[in-house]
Amino acid sequence: MKPILPGSTIGILGGGQLGRMFAIAARRMGYRVHALDPTPDSPTGQVADVEIEAKYDDVEAARYFASRCDVVTMEFENIPSSTVRAIEELRPVHPSAHVLHVCQHRRREKEFLSASGFAVVPFRSVDSVVALRAAIGELGLPVVLKTAGYGYDGKGQVRIDSAESVDDAWRRMGESEGVVEQFVRFERELSVICARDVEGRTRCFDVAENEHRRHILDTSVAPSRIPRALADRAQKLASDIAIALDVVGLIAVEMFLLPDGRLLVNELAPRPHNSGHWSFDACVTSQFEQQLRAVCGLPLGNPSLLSPAAIANILGDLWTVGAPRWDLAMRVPDIRLHIYGKLQPRPGRKMGHLCATASTPDAALAAVLSARQTLEPIA
Ligand code: AMP
Repeated sequence: MKPILPGSTIGILGGGQLGRMFAIAARRMGYRVHALDPTPDSPTGQVADVEIEAKYDDVEAARYFASRCDVVTMEFENIPSSTVRAIEELRPVHPSAHVLHVCQHRRREKEFLSASGFAVVPFRSVDSVVALRAAIGELGLPVVLKTAGYGYDGKGQVRIDSAESVDDAWRRMGESEGVVEQFVRFERELSVICARDVEGRTRCFDVAENEHRRHILDTSVAPSRIPRALADRAQKLASDIAIALDVVGLIAVEMFLLPDGRLLVNELAPRPHNSGHWSFDACVTSQFEQQLRAVCGLPLGNPSLLSPAAIANILGDLWTVGAPRWDLAMRVPDIRLHIYGKLQPRPGRKMGHLCATASTPDAALAAVLSARQTLEPIA
């Protein structure tokens, strides 16, 4: 493939913060960015050269969008396959319709992983409450019931602790096709973002160690405070998955570390990931620039950390009495503030993040938490 060089136009499907940071990285390198998103003045649209407002299933709009770009990528994997196929007829698209087909659907994703020999949390596919009861009989309680389709940040999943709550959980998940999996008592949650270029070369970012609150990522620290051999194993796992899926671009692999040292894959995302946001401030090449390089057929960059780093998400919950006092957080040394430009703060909505670099991962985490603490509304 002939490299797509600076001055060319990159199309990005999706208008969220991942697209915004991608667009910032692309524009820094002299690319033009066109964004397609259903909402005007989106976080990505605010920094793109051109924002096209259209629904993701509007194939005509997608064709028009693609015709004005040299290559198309995405920051959001739930793009209908009809749209991706229409774009593929006109321009290169990364990740491909095949990768999206697998990663858009939890059951397909888990079946792909287990069929390819990757360890996942024991699960069953269920399409009725009878099947759910039978699956719980095999897996044991507690379990987590997750919708098969679109779900993120804990949306579309519910924990079931007792036989009495099965009917209620099934109703709450919309009585639709889903997967039910064992509730895992993991030691840590880890993730690895792996980039793969058009020629099949892979490069992984450092392993991130993540904490979730209410099923939403709260903090991410890199490098993870785990032994080197385990980090190597986690990175090899991500790279093997990128190869097995034939990804061009990025794949984020979320995993559970069990007390016995096993790594189970929880979820895949074929795009930049919240647990790699420290790469924007703390790596030679950020995950956003790496995605750009991969989809443009350029050499992958060096993903090494320049320093240990940690991020803490800023959710809409902090807006109880208006916007937080950003100036207070910025008093903490070595803090970077990222605000995504979302117009409406809502509880659970990711509005921005803070990133700290320090001489150790623990010190970076302590700094980012103390900066976020200053943003908490005073009761
Ligand atoms: P997911 O949307 O599947 O990534 O889940 C969001 C978060 O919920 C995960 O990062 C975990 O913290 C938690 N979670 C999901 N599935 C399980 C499970 N089977 N066992 C324990 N915790 C889980």
